[in-house]
Amino acid sequence: CAPESEGPMRKYLVSINDLPPGGKDFTLDDQDIWLAPLREFHMECRIQRRLEAHMSVVPAEDGCLVRGRLTGSVIMPCNRCAEDAAVEIDAGFEEFEEIPPEESAALADADPDGTGHVVYDRHAPMLDLAAVCWEEFLLALPVAPLCREECRGLCPICGTNLNEGCCACAPEEEDPRMAPLRELAARRQ
Ligand SMILES: [Zn+2]
Ligand SMILES: [Zn+2]
Repeated sequence: CAPESEGPMRKYLVSINDLPPGGKDFTLDDQDIWLAPLREFHMECRIQRRLEAHMSVVPAEDGCLVRGRLTGSVIMPCNRCAEDAAVEIDAGFEEFEEIPPEESAALADADPDGTGHVVYDRHAPMLDLAAVCWEEFLLALPVAPLCREECRGLCPICGTNLNEGCCACAPEEEDPRMAPLRELAARRQ
């Protein structure tokens, strides 16, 4: 018989009602949690050291408290020269995941990925741990990754990687307000 065509991430749904009152710990290190959306969104980012999330989920009124830490490292293109930039990830997080109010349950059924990470499954609220892992990963990424702090980037004229050498292009425009002074200095020489 054909296997159920459930999405690969279905196994990371946690029933909030079944959590012990003191909460429960989870370790997620299935790289597909991050690889699948990276591929889906065509993000230029590859995993260098395995990503791993440790989290504890404590049930609360109207939702649950998710506290954890995400570690690993990825390679992204440098914001200045587009060469590989290693990005170290070590991010703590703490989020309250709210159960959508009753009247929006039908809505949540129709659009399980709509908002938040709590989805409905047979009217029992389920927390999507994989979605939490993905969002915390996005939050942990730098806005402008650099291959190194002092990266010199590419020449805007010829595209030469200035970390590897100079090019023949003119240096950057000097301040035009200084031009008269420069002329004066040249005349006196
Ligand atoms: Zn660079
Ligand atoms: Zn150049």
